[in-house]
Amino acid sequence: MHRFSMIIDGDERPGVDWFASDNPYLGAPWAEIARASVADVDDAVQAAHRALTSGPWSELTASGRGALMRRLGDTIAANARHLAELEVRDNGKLYREMFGQVSYLPEWYYYYGGLSDKVEGSVLPMDKKGYFTYTRKEPVGVVAIITPWNSPLMLLSWKLAPALAAGCTVVIKPSEFASASTLELVRLFHEAGLPPGVINVVTGFGQDIGPALIEHPLVRRVSFTGSDATGRQIGGQAARNLKHVGLELGGKSPNIVFADADLTAAVNGVVSGIFAATGQTCIAGSRLLVQREIHDEVVSRVVEVARTARIGDPMNDETDIGPITTPAQHAKVLDYIEIGRREGATLVLGGGQPTIGACGTGWFVEPTIFTGVSTGMRIAQEEIFGPVLAVLPFADEEEAIALANDVRFGLGAGVWTKDIGRSFRMADRVRSGTVWVNTYRAVSFLAPFGGFDDSGIGRENGIGAIEEYLENKTVWINTGAAVGNPFVMR
Ligand code: NAD
Repeated sequence: MHRFSMIIDGDERPGVDWFASDNPYLGAPWAEIARASVADVDDAVQAAHRALTSGPWSELTASGRGALMRRLGDTIAANARHLAELEVRDNGKLYREMFGQVSYLPEWYYYYGGLSDKVEGSVLPMDKKGYFTYTRKEPVGVVAIITPWNSPLMLLSWKLAPALAAGCTVVIKPSEFASASTLELVRLFHEAGLPPGVINVVTGFGQDIGPALIEHPLVRRVSFTGSDATGRQIGGQAARNLKHVGLELGGKSPNIVFADADLTAAVNGVVSGIFAATGQTCIAGSRLLVQREIHDEVVSRVVEVARTARIGDPMNDETDIGPITTPAQHAKVLDYIEIGRREGATLVLGGGQPTIGACGTGWFVEPTIFTGVSTGMRIAQEEIFGPVLAVLPFADEEEAIALANDVRFGLGAGVWTKDIGRSFRMADRVRSGTVWVNTYRAVSFLAPFGGFDDSGIGRENGIGAIEEYLENKTVWINTGAAVGNPFVMR
């Protein structure tokens, strides 16, 4: 059993207790994680506030922060295998995928590190005589970062890199189901020269320590990725306490396939859209909207490819589908499959737990496809967060748009067509933070990412993301403005 302490003010701390983290492939605990108390949360926020207002981090120039961030990026690159392995043990996602993901993360620290000394205020043109007026940008303050289990280090880095570039300090609360890689990353960052207090990690259960973190008077921003139910709760708490807030939430994203599409590419996009990461991604293309005349052909080709998926050990490079991360999530996915059956949808693939030997101990679900789905069904409306695809036919562009937009989420959408005019029309009219045309899932540190509607508030990635971690200050210097009547405001 490995033990991971939390990290407060650069020190490793045991917490009040330990809780188990399970390996979803084995269905058994593999690590113990420190459980933080409310007092630990206060200590972590106080440490972050001290680091913000005094000491080496606060004295670094913006260029100095950039240089340090490049070192942090190098640290991830040098430890990518180790960090990816920790993620796989915790969340059961494929090592191939996690290694690729972690290996890409240094770019976030290089990009935002490069941006840190390009943050500029401006001198304002002025309609009043005798003033020099300018704006400056300052770090928003201590940031609380709350992350989910599905891609812990990636979703953390989307927040942490711009926060550090802006000069903020942070307290991270990783998911109770996948805390190990975050703790190890922050430990390695300290070894690489990160000053104490800049990044603190408190571990434990959301309901126990979340409110103390979000409502802490010294926390000025809350950056959250997770489910929409938790997001609503956290957004409400943050708003009541007048904190800035960013929410990256769930989705029910459509992959929309027109009859004129390159069907081989579309079928691959649909399969990877829903079955990559066993469907446990916020951008899972969990609805296949397919033009009626190619419905049967596309369904049979998607089924054919999905059927070949090798289910098993996520550490094995031959595996295509790993386990579901938690027993509760496993039960929820199986429940939704039952709901789909009861709603009258037709199960054309999967629908159960695989029986092949090696999977016996973990929490597995077969790749599952339902046809005959109508838009009112729960399997067409609710985020399942598992390998379950709902197929809905459409007649034309109008109906495709109507179906695509007929959910409360708006995170991602795929459009498959060879008609360039149609691709622009669809991109204009689908309500979604990202639209991919003839591709799916691409993300970059350069491209803003976030949700419309119930998929969230705010954007991560891209040049604008740093603004979420900055305050604007306006400064008026009197260079000779006339002194007027003190009782009359001008
Ligand atoms: P979750 O909402 O259950 O938990 C996310 C985090 O919030 C965890 O760290 C949890 O401990 C914490 N939390 C829970 N209750 C809390 C409370 N009352 N106060 C403070 N913190 C609390 O989400 P999850 O199950 O870990 O992750 C899956 C969800 O995340 C899915 O809905 C998925 O779509 C979403 N997600 C969104 C994105 C995106 O970028 N939009 C990316 C990945 C995952």
